[in-house]
This record gives sequence, structure tokens and C-alpha cells, in this order.
Amino acid sequence: MSGISLKNIQFAYPGSPFRLQVKGLEVTPGTGFGLLGPSGSGKTTLLRLMTGLLQPQAGEVRLGDATLHTLSEAERRAFRLSEVGLVFQDFALLDYLTVEENILLPQTFRRAATANQASQARDLAERLEISQHWQKLAGQLSQGERQRVAIARAIAHKPRFLFADEPTASLDATRRSRVMDLLMEYTAQQQACLVMVTHDTELMPLFPNHARVEDFTS
Ligand code: ADP
Ligand code: MG
Repeated sequence: MSGISLKNIQFAYPGSPFRLQVKGLEVTPGTGFGLLGPSGSGKTTLLRLMTGLLQPQAGEVRLGDATLHTLSEAERRAFRLSEVGLVFQDFALLDYLTVEENILLPQTFRRAATANQASQARDLAERLEISQHWQKLAGQLSQGERQRVAIARAIAHKPRFLFADEPTASLDATRRSRVMDLLMEYTAQQQACLVMVTHDTELMPLFPNHARVEDFTS
């Protein structure tokens, strides 16, 4: 199985009554999976478990051939840098770096930034309508622009597993649909697995495969 697979996951934050339990969840390559649910229902927590940023108390998460809990922290980090793209809910940009530097950050850490990748990143920025800000500091951008930089950064290194936490929350309707077109097209063309968190019910038709996170909590 080269997709995403979760089995018998149990998770609790220390000292908190919040519980997440996922018996089974599969995402097939080339498809998108929607995680839906109201604020506070556990969407971000589940995404963090799926990317190994949080460790469950029981159960296993597999991304392709990698079983996350059997890797060391360093191996998980290396795996994430090459195979995982993450759009964080708060974007997690470095405000004192330029748009270009933020987008190329994963490649920079892997010392893998090539001229070709830089030009692909630039094409992505054009498609996301942020190329005019290429040399501006991320801290000088609007929320919607920052969100699009975060999306470009998550995709630029061509990850097989793409996780996006409410990636359209700061966008107007037109830009929202352009971003969704891009994410869906990327998923199909690269045969990637996309897991997208949203509480926007208008996006539901794009995700025939989805789960309501409330169903996993108690
Ligand atoms: P969502 O993304 O759906 O809004 P979250 O996954 O952020 O929900 O949060 C789910 C629940 O876990 C909430 O009750 C939240 O307060 C709690 N929570 C989130 N992060 C932590 C944390 N680091 N420590 C303890 N509780 C947390
Ligand atoms: Mg959240």
C-alpha cells in the first residue's frame, strides 16, 4: 500500500479529557480525503498524528512504506522533508525571510535546491498570484497572501503526502476555487495523497471520501 493508512489509533493530550480514536482510515494515491468538523473537534490534532508531529498512545500510522512510530525522530524529520507537504493552519512562515526563501525552505534544508526547482517554485507562485511579492518579506504580506505562500511551500518539493489544514480559510471565493483546482490537479498528476481539513461545507463535493472528526472523539 503506497497510500496513507491509520489503524487503531488512540490519542489523548496529557491531563485533558479530549480523546481521539480512529479504528481505520485509508487514503489512496491520487485521491483527496476531507477531514470535516467544527472548531475544536480535533481536526488539527488528527493531522498532526498523521504527519508524526504527535505520537499516538496506541495504534499505527503508515505513509507509504514508512510506519511512523518505528522511525527515530531524526528519520521522521528527514522523511517529512522529502515526502510530506504541510500547510499549517497558522501558515508557519518565517516573517524575516522573503517569499522565495520561504517557498524553497524544505529544499534548502535538504540542500537540494536546484535552479530547476527554483523555476518550478516561481511557476507555482505565479499560479497562486504571489509572484509579484517574490522578494518581499513574508511579514509584509496580507493573510490571504501568506496562506498562498504556505501552499506553494507545501507543494514545491513535490511531496507524495500532502496535508493541508484549512488552506482556504483566508481566501475569497475566487481564490479559494483556484487553490482547490491546484490542490486537486497536483494530487491527480503526482498520484499524491491529499488530506485536507476544512469546515467549509461548500467544499464537500470535492471530497467524496471524507470523515467527520467528531465521529472519532469522545
Ligand atoms: P480543531 O483543529 O478541529 O479546531 P484541535 O485538534 O485543534 O481542533 O483541538 C481538539 C481539542 O484538543 C480541543 O479541545 C483543544 O482544546 C485540544 N487541544 C489542542 N491542542 C492541545 C494541546 N497542545 N494540549 C492540550 N489540549 C489541546
Ligand atoms: Mg484546527
